[in-house]
Amino acid sequence: MKYTQERNASAEISRLALQKMAVQPAALNPMSFAVWYEHVSGINPELSGKVENLLREHSKLDDEHIEQLYMEHVSECGSKIQLTLREDLKLLLGKLSQLTTEADKQTSNYGNTLHDFGKKLKNEVSVTELDLLVKDISNDTDKMHTSMQQMHAELEASHHEVERLNKEMEILKGAAITDPLTGVLNRRGFEGRADELFANPDLSNDKGHCLLMLDVDHFKHINDTYGHLLGDKVLAAIANTLKIKVQGQDIVGRLGGEEFSILLPNTNLDGAFAVAEHIRQAIERGKIRRLDSNENIEGITISIGISSKRMNEKLNDLIARADKALYTSKKEGRNRITILD
Ligand code: GH3
Ligand code: MG
Ligand code: MG
Repeated sequence: MKYTQERNASAEISRLALQKMAVQPAALNPMSFAVWYEHVSGINPELSGKVENLLREHSKLDDEHIEQLYMEHVSECGSKIQLTLREDLKLLLGKLSQLTTEADKQTSNYGNTLHDFGKKLKNEVSVTELDLLVKDISNDTDKMHTSMQQMHAELEASHHEVERLNKEMEILKGAAITDPLTGVLNRRGFEGRADELFANPDLSNDKGHCLLMLDVDHFKHINDTYGHLLGDKVLAAIANTLKIKVQGQDIVGRLGGEEFSILLPNTNLDGAFAVAEHIRQAIERGKIRRLDSNENIEGITISIGISSKRMNEKLNDLIARADKALYTSKKEGRNRITILD
């Protein structure tokens, strides 16, 4: 997470950010707050440089400025890449359209020339005239061939460019659905994969699908005792354990804060319980090295709730039922698993 300030420090930053926002003509919305928060806290030097430049130039920041600052320097879904990608794509389309226009022109000229030759052949022609005609056809065909070769080379280059853009697009799409702290899917990515699974009957068999909701126990206490950075390290380590303990087709996501979810396709409740128990034990046994000493922190545990998908049940309802089971695990003492089928 990029906002790692403690509560008191973040309260002070928020107060200053609101003060600065209030004297600007831009709307007082979350986008504007994020820009000012990051500027005041000093965590985003590139953004701060841009804000200061804009203030020097215009003395006030309006909605357009804020949106631009947000898109280019705050938003985490790779807006900068997105902008360059869009520009690159525009250039490429321009190049391709130029190429096709040129190709059109050339083929139509060549067609006309051939047509003219054809017309000439309808009349009586001497051997000398025929010889000249063949030479002309040969010359024009050579020219056409050369320009087609050039065009082919340019098309080939454009093809490579398209491939490069495709790869960048894949990276961009990946960034938009991945949680940067843990590397597992974020909520949007998780929901997307779950929707794909539910929409495709070919991906299902009669075992059904199960969903695990997992929540770190007393995580606030871990943060308060060892600091937020170690809290982040714990979340990354837990996500790693989840990735290791599931199989290829299983879908792991961080739905928010210290809550994870796993969708197990084609898995019945017994199977889901076995997976959950492996995970619960692995985390209970795990050790995380402290940041300020060589000591290990032990005793981190998680609680789990499991639900099994009903016919035509929506993801949100499935999650809500697993959440209810999770709540029971918490209520009954934590570090345990509850099933709600
Ligand atoms: P319970 O056993 O009932 O789940 O208790 P808990 O303390 O885990 O639950 P609570 O909801 O009270 O606290 C969750 C904490 O998780 C509070 C919040 O500051 C922390 N948290 C949320 N997201 C992050 C994060 O990205 N990094 C860190 N370090 N902490 C986070
Ligand atoms: Mg929680
Ligand atoms: Mg918790």
